Formats: sequence, structure tokens, C-alpha cells
Amino acid sequence: MIQYSLHCAKGHQYDAWFKSAAAYDEQAARGIVTCAVCGDGEVSKAPMAPAVARTDGERIALSSAHPDAQKFREMLREYRAKVTSQADYVGDKFAEEARKIHFEEVEARGIYGEATRDEVVALVEEGIDFLPLPDLADDN
Ligand SMILES: [Zn+2]
Repeated sequence: MIQYSLHCAKGHQYDAWFKSAAAYDEQAARGIVTCAVCGDGEVSKAPMAPAVARTDGERIALSSAHPDAQKFREMLREYRAKVTSQADYVGDKFAEEARKIHFEEVEARGIYGEATRDEVVALVEEGIDFLPLPDLADDN
């Protein structure tokens, strides 16, 4: 999975996820990447924020501190607390359980847990909806 910051000819800026850099290039070449705000078809990648390369060569988007960063962290912390208090922890069985819920093999319920990168890619390909759970360094 790769996250790009995109902007359209009218100046709207938003983030979008793609399976890979190649998937983005292919969709962009086919003209099917459109602005999430106005639907404009003239979308291009925004200049990248400073990124740190991980060992596998994947880059993660970062930004320097913003005055609202602390507020945002609080929101994430609250969100995480809400999810973890209301959902079932399924550990490394997240992909398996999310799939069962998606295909209605079990009753729908909130779950959270961990998945490998491969499992995450597979879930996305299967059209299963999920969100990353923020992991805050100073959580404890
Ligand atoms: Zn737009």
C-alpha cells in the first residue's frame, strides 16, 4: 500500500491510497484518478513531504510539528481508546476474522488486532473495509 498526497487543477488536495506506485501510475495513465473533492480528472501527485525510507524501501509520509498536532494526537488517543474498549481483540487473527465478518460467516462485530503487510494487501484486494489503528509512541 502506498499513500499519495494528490492535488487537482483547481487546487484541492487530499490523500489517497494505492496498491502500489505502479498501480497509481497505471490508473493515472488511464485517467481514472479523479479529484476526491470536485471530480476533476487533472490530478497530480503533490510534492512529497519529507519521507523516511524503511528497510524494505517503502516510504512513509511525515510532516513537521503543527500547532494542532497535540489536539490531533488527543483525538487519535480517544479514537484508539474507544475502539479498544468497544471491539474484540483478535490478535494476529485480524485478517481471518475481518474476512469472516465481511462474508457474513459470523455476526458483525467490531474487532481489532494485527495483520501482516501481505494480509493487509489481500484484504484491500478483497474489498474488505478496515482502518489502521493509530499506535501512539507515548501511549502508556
Ligand atoms: Zn478538485
